[in-house]
Amino acid sequence: MRGLMQNHPLLISQFIEHGGTVFGNVEVVSQTVEGPIHRYTWSDVRARSRQLANALTAQGVGLGDRIATIAWTNHRHLEAYYGIAGIGAVCHTINPRLYADDLVYVLNHAEDRFVMLDLTFVPLIEAIAERLESVEGFIIMTDQEHMPSNQLPNTVCYEEFIAARAADYEWPRFDENTAANLCYTSGTTGKPKGVLYSHRSTVLHAYASCMPGNIVGGRGQCMLAVVPMFHANGWGIPYSAPMTGSKLVMPGQKLDGESLTKLMRDEGVTTTCGVPTVWLGLLDYWKEHDTSVPTVKQVGIGGAAPARSMIEEFERDFGIEILHGWGMTEMNPLGTIHTLSASERATLSPDDQLDALTTQGAPVFGVEIKVVDEDGATLPNDGKSCGELMVRGPWVCERYFKDETSAIDDEGWFGTGDIALIGEGMSMQITDRAKDVIKSGGEWISSIDLENAAMGHPDVAHAAVIGVPDEKWSERPLLIVVPAVGTEPTKEDILGCLADKVAKWWLPDDVVFEEELPVSGTGKVQKIKLREKYAPVEVKKAAG
Ligand code: AMP
Repeated sequence: MRGLMQNHPLLISQFIEHGGTVFGNVEVVSQTVEGPIHRYTWSDVRARSRQLANALTAQGVGLGDRIATIAWTNHRHLEAYYGIAGIGAVCHTINPRLYADDLVYVLNHAEDRFVMLDLTFVPLIEAIAERLESVEGFIIMTDQEHMPSNQLPNTVCYEEFIAARAADYEWPRFDENTAANLCYTSGTTGKPKGVLYSHRSTVLHAYASCMPGNIVGGRGQCMLAVVPMFHANGWGIPYSAPMTGSKLVMPGQKLDGESLTKLMRDEGVTTTCGVPTVWLGLLDYWKEHDTSVPTVKQVGIGGAAPARSMIEEFERDFGIEILHGWGMTEMNPLGTIHTLSASERATLSPDDQLDALTTQGAPVFGVEIKVVDEDGATLPNDGKSCGELMVRGPWVCERYFKDETSAIDDEGWFGTGDIALIGEGMSMQITDRAKDVIKSGGEWISSIDLENAAMGHPDVAHAAVIGVPDEKWSERPLLIVVPAVGTEPTKEDILGCLADKVAKWWLPDDVVFEEELPVSGTGKVQKIKLREKYAPVEVKKAAG
């Protein structure tokens, strides 16, 4: 027997209609690329998103068309989130730190029809424009006054594009499983892979993300969206803010300690989220200037493991509650979160509380997790058995964009490539990574590309790259080299050889020499052994 309730689709346009009507006067503030702070309300965001929807529709953009954005976290990007997905098109957010070749790859693979870009990225896109196969035009996200002269074909200024369009628009109603956003991840080997979120996955994720204990917004709250909008839908904050009536502050590209402190102070920020590297800069600034921002009550840290000392400083020195989240692009992105419950705060010693917060926490409602051994057998949640972390739920990827094969097993589990253990209360701790990549400052570095580049040196017989803990960047690459027989290469020789083959920020911080690398029965380098030697992880007591 079916239930007799309305089968109303869950659609992204509902966020902005809700925010615009119920919280119409609540402010949305952004640091613009042009310089000044821009200030308006959720009602204005709604009006301008509808104008964009009308403008895109007039260009013939409709259901399923992909529109790329290459932009910082700012008000026009927010309007793009709503204007594009709201009409049933797909908002393809692009990470501007991708290599030129990968940028070309993702734009062509996605078959984007238009590219909406911030002023900052005009030169980046000019350099690759000729190689783009599907793009019909470029919308530069600025006003007429700041419109640059440029080499891009068929450009229009965003403000002009939407100016003459009506602020009335009836958002179409369609199946909630329709694609809404496309985000490529480089967190695996090979070419970037497209994760195609649906309206349903995005709305359900937003509900879960702002439940008590998670990234809570609400009336009277002010959320600072430090995590970029090109990182997995900005962790859902652009949606949960209008959903809950939060004021939203968007910092643009200025994520240094001084700029964030000023914005937090000027706008009365209460809650914020970002990667550890950004928080390190903020804490350094606060300590150096003997300052802090007392309105900030909650800081979410995710994307990489935060150091215990970072959690300690926020919690003890500044009285700020830490939310430690784990997730991935493939999960819209939130998977687990650790916030201390009232009973943990009452019963655990201060040190045990900090230990607990270094672990990645329990799944949010909607996500299931388990760990499996190398044969895929489920391991006990005993706080000590480590295996690959598997996840399933309504906002977990089923397959990558344009991929023929499914990314999940017969029972719907998706392998995360993270190694973890699960303890009491399903509290999870990441202990290692099976996927062969390094995450530095929240961005991926391919160890395989680095190894291949190193092996291009005539004196290198074998090379392996692993990530080692780094206070500022979370991880940095370490290159381990077995010299060719009869040679004695130096660190400088090898780094010099890599310099013109990889991005500067990918260059290993150090090179160490070994007589041989540990190899498994199948001939694969056992990186786990190298990590045990060079980057040991301390396994915490599983926190409940
Ligand atoms: P991304 O798809 O770029 O969001 O990266 C997801 C990956 O980042 C995960 O699979 C983990 O390897 C890593 N990651 C995310 N959050 C954490 C965390 N809190 N602790 C440790 N690793 C994390």
